[in-house]
Amino acid sequence: MDSFGHDHSHDHPHQSDDKIHAYYQILGQALKELLIEKGIVSASEIQYAMERREATTPANGAKVVARAWLDSEYRKRLFMDANSAAAEFGIELPTTHLVALENTPKIHNVVVCTLCSCYPRDLLGLPPAWYKSKAYRSRVVCEPREVLKEFGTLLPDDVEVRVHDSTADLRYLVVPMRPDDTDDLGEDALRSLITRDTMIGVALAGRTI
Ligand code: FE
Repeated sequence: MDSFGHDHSHDHPHQSDDKIHAYYQILGQALKELLIEKGIVSASEIQYAMERREATTPANGAKVVARAWLDSEYRKRLFMDANSAAAEFGIELPTTHLVALENTPKIHNVVVCTLCSCYPRDLLGLPPAWYKSKAYRSRVVCEPREVLKEFGTLLPDDVEVRVHDSTADLRYLVVPMRPDDTDDLGEDALRSLITRDTMIGVALAGRTI
């Protein structure tokens, strides 16, 4: 196991995470009750939002990336205005600015939220535990290549690694490079190569089928 709990066979929160979790759970519950009491939102609206959140998976992001691999006009639109390009698939991020980051043979992008756990949830679903861990948040900034290596991602020395810090208002989607040997694959098959980790930038898309 590495220092940020990646490859953990048992995905339980650690003790310090437990305390933090309990604190935010109480805070979240109090806020929810207050919002309902004040009539700002209803309990069913909250329930609907939570269900919608839980139903969102990295398949959303994969739709966007696969289209960018196949359609050069869409690709241009995505890098120019990612919010609008995502909206073409019905993926709306009304309150956050989305930026798509292009991986190239010379530039590799990695995403982090050094402050907390900001993440493009509308495209990737809920963030994995390691993304929220203090180890990932601090280490990927200082030693990105080392962290990538722990994910099994080895980059040639001449590739520049760029680390992007997300905020509440700004989220990133990494567009991994399309693997070379995929000319015969259609859009659906391409989507299956685009994993969550490739869109965070800790993994490279590869042909496995
Ligand atoms: Fe955050």
